[in-house]
Amino acid sequence: MTETKQFPKGMVPLGDSVFNFGCHPGVQCYTLCCRNVDMILYPYDIIRLKSSLGLNSEEFLRRHTTLEKGDNIYFPTVKLRLDEESKACPFLAPHGCSVYSDRPTACRTYPLERAIDRSRNKGAPDEFYFMTNHSYCFGHAEKTIYNVKNWLRNQQLFEHNTMNDLWAEIDTIFAGNPWKGEGVAGEKQQLAFLVCYNIDGFRRVIDQHKLLSQFQLAKEVRRRIALDDGELLKFGFEWLKLFFNKSTSIIKK
Ligand code: SF4
Ligand code: SF4
Repeated sequence: MTETKQFPKGMVPLGDSVFNFGCHPGVQCYTLCCRNVDMILYPYDIIRLKSSLGLNSEEFLRRHTTLEKGDNIYFPTVKLRLDEESKACPFLAPHGCSVYSDRPTACRTYPLERAIDRSRNKGAPDEFYFMTNHSYCFGHAEKTIYNVKNWLRNQQLFEHNTMNDLWAEIDTIFAGNPWKGEGVAGEKQQLAFLVCYNIDGFRRVIDQHKLLSQFQLAKEVRRRIALDDGELLKFGFEWLKLFFNKSTSIIKK
C-alpha cells in the first residue's frame, strides 16, 4: 500500500510543475527581501560566509549572528544579525548582494521552501518544495520558467542541501536533550556548538588533541579535512554521532 504524505493545509508540493520567476536589478522590489529578514544560518552557511568575508568563524559569529531559542529548545538557533539602523542584511551593498556566490541557503532557495522527511529511515531523506507567495515580491511576474530541478541547479543548492541534511541529523540528536545532567549550557553543549558553528575553533581543538590520529582515516580523507572546512564539518558531524552513541563508525572512505 502506498502511503500518501499529508501536508499542512494550503501547502501543495510543487513536484514537477513549472513556475515563473526572475530576480535581477530590473525588478522594482530589488533587494527588498534583504531587509527586515529573519534568517536562520546553518553550519555550512557560516563556513561559506566567513570564508567569503575573510573572517575566522569566531569573528563571524561575534559580528554577524545572534543566538536564539528556536524549534529545538535544547540547542541554540543561530540567526543573521541585521544592521541595527537600517535593519538590512549586513551583506547588502548598493549594487546588491556582496556575498552572492556564498549567500546562505535561505537566499538561494527563495521563493521556494524546502521540507524533508526522514520517516523512510534509509538513504537520503525525501524532499518537498513549496512556493511562497509574498505580495512584495514581483519576481513571480517575470517570464523565465523553472521547475524545482532547474531552480536547484540554477541556485547551486546541491552542496548546501547535502550539508544541511547532515546537520538535520545532528540537530535531531540535540533535540533529544543528550546533555542530560549537564544542562543545556554545559561543556558537552559548548563542544557541540564549537563543532557545528565554530569550525576554526574545532580545527584548533583537533590539532591540539591530535584527534584525527585516533581514527583510521584514509589518506585522501585526511588530506580533504586538512584543506577544506566543509570536509572537517562532515567529520565533526560523524564524530558527534559517535560521541552521543548514535553511530559506531566514522568516515569510511
Ligand atoms: S546574503 Fe545577500 S541575498 Fe541574502 S539577504 Fe543578505 S544581501 Fe540579500
Ligand atoms: S523580493 Fe523577490 S524579486 Fe524582489 S529582490 Fe527579493 S527575491 Fe528578488
